[in-house]
Amino acid sequence: MNAIAYIESTVQQKLKSDASGHDWWHILRVRRLALYLARQEHADTEICEIAALLHETCDHKLVADAEQALQEAEICLRDAGGTAAQIKAVLEIIPAISFKGAGVPDRLPSKEAQIVQDADRLDAMGAIGIARTFAYGGSRGRPLYDPDFPVEMHQSFQSYKKSTAPAINHFYEKLLLLKDRMHTVTAKQMAKERHQFMLDFLNRFFSEWNLRGDATISNKNR
Ligand code: ADP
Repeated sequence: MNAIAYIESTVQQKLKSDASGHDWWHILRVRRLALYLARQEHADTEICEIAALLHETCDHKLVADAEQALQEAEICLRDAGGTAAQIKAVLEIIPAISFKGAGVPDRLPSKEAQIVQDADRLDAMGAIGIARTFAYGGSRGRPLYDPDFPVEMHQSFQSYKKSTAPAINHFYEKLLLLKDRMHTVTAKQMAKERHQFMLDFLNRFFSEWNLRGDATISNKNR
């Protein structure tokens, strides 16, 4: 078994019962996007691929203990035969790339981290991003939308993590911000169309909700 195949089977095992949009198919899409971006940007494709494969295994929303999950990722990388430099690079990328709140700036350790973050965020946008958002909301028992639930621009990871907002709020609290937070030229370009698709969806959603036909949400009860 080669290193990538070993990591693949470990990740597949961990995410096999996920129904929150963080499943194995998400991993495969992010890997494909990350490899594409890495080639365009002349980055280290192997680091990008391994980080893309492992990036959800330490997510605070999916595991009880994110620190312990990171240690398990390290063991997996060792068992797969990763070099010390590869292990260090991947373990720096995984916790750095996740979204931590609208008001929390990204601090990324490398070009490879930027690439994996761009790839992960492209999969959070567009049609797939919309589908994943409602899948996530459903998996946590949250409503589609509640006009009484205010949008919050989280200024800390702590407050972002505690949010129990309806799925629609997530567009304003994260998804519509991603276009302007991409790093690579290629991802910036790809993000435009996915962003517009989300705006079109929101316009339609609100016109069917009988509020108003634009994608601006207000915090007021209507
Ligand atoms: P990141 O890898 O940047 O931390 P997340 O794992 O938090 O990203 O989010 C991945 C996707 O899961 C989001 O783009 C969205 O589709 C869904 N999701 C995460 N948090 C929420 C939420 N609070 N409400 C609705 N969907 C969410």
